[in-house]
Amino acid sequence: TGAPPARPTWIEVDPAAVAHNVSVLRAHVAPAPLWAVVKADGYGHGAATVARAALDAGAEGLAVALVEEAEELRAAGIDAPVMLLSEPPPGGADRLVAAAVEPTAYSIEVVDAVADAVTAAGRGPWPVHLKVDTGMHRVGATPEVAVRVGRAVADHPDLRLASVWTHLAVADEPASDFTAEQLRRFDAACAELAAAGVEVPLRHAANSAGAIAHPAARLDRVRAGIAVYGIAPSPELAGLVDLRPALRLVSRVSHVKTVAAGGAISYGQRYQVTRDTTVATVPVGYADGVRRSLAAAGAEVLIGGRRLPIAGTVTMDQITVDCGPDAPVARGDEVVLLGRQGDEEVTAEEWAGLLGTIGYEVTCGLGRRVPRVVV
Ligand code: PLP
Repeated sequence: TGAPPARPTWIEVDPAAVAHNVSVLRAHVAPAPLWAVVKADGYGHGAATVARAALDAGAEGLAVALVEEAEELRAAGIDAPVMLLSEPPPGGADRLVAAAVEPTAYSIEVVDAVADAVTAAGRGPWPVHLKVDTGMHRVGATPEVAVRVGRAVADHPDLRLASVWTHLAVADEPASDFTAEQLRRFDAACAELAAAGVEVPLRHAANSAGAIAHPAARLDRVRAGIAVYGIAPSPELAGLVDLRPALRLVSRVSHVKTVAAGGAISYGQRYQVTRDTTVATVPVGYADGVRRSLAAAGAEVLIGGRRLPIAGTVTMDQITVDCGPDAPVARGDEVVLLGRQGDEEVTAEEWAGLLGTIGYEVTCGLGRRVPRVVV
């Protein structure tokens, strides 16, 4: 709504990269279908944009963390199946049904709440996904509780058991044998359900790392998030499939000046200038997700196809860049903080390495005030 943003700082989201990643992943995990995880506004990329591109490239469904996120997809006109990855919160079942969301359940209370909402709406039988905790210990039913919850779903006339699933804790660490242990526990839990007369229609366990590196985890569906965005789940898994980053964080030089040797740049005077140099100011800061600790970690930006260091403390709305003594830099020049420019590229993985975090946190941390532009 309203006027276009005046500040020349934006995030370019490339649906063709998302489609490429989905196609490559689908080929990698075939015949297992792929569901694209688009929670947290599509890991910061814009959920509706990513969802459409993923579905166009053959994703079978979508997964979100919040009922609100599913409502946003519906408001954008997306009518593909959407699964909720945890139980709906108390009072959330009616909204979940209204938004045609398939819930996860691991407690009798939630089965009852969903059943009541479905019955009230006259819309049964409603798909429910039973989550089993096989060792991640975040959410999910123990195998014993799973049998009771599975029974309750299977026995209710307005519900149907759509899948049984689990989540892997260390799939991004290929050297660990705990993924195999989780899959063994999952098999056993599914066998217990079957022995109790609960038919298991479909099983899934794999996140991106599971999909990429653990063939045994692919089962009947993979739930891929980070790889859909072209980011490797961990350094160990980089390069195993041909992924393309789906966003660029871009700005334009707003101010250029020469700083004489002996000066120091930005808060705390942490960047000492040892030779006369050209300093470019760029209107993007930590309120946009350019984390303050990036400067001390040695992060670089791209201007004119060259890597140049962030010079001095990142401020809320602006950074300063040391362009060197003879840099042909001018106000209005494009600055790439994340993504490709010419032959150079800065990736979310690079920032993650500098910050001691993971690529997920980099893109999820990009500020909401930065407009997402579909390219
Ligand atoms: N499944 C569940 C339950 C998740 O919570 C997530 C994301 O955290 C995913 C799948 C997707 O994981 P990834 O982004 O590593 O592919």
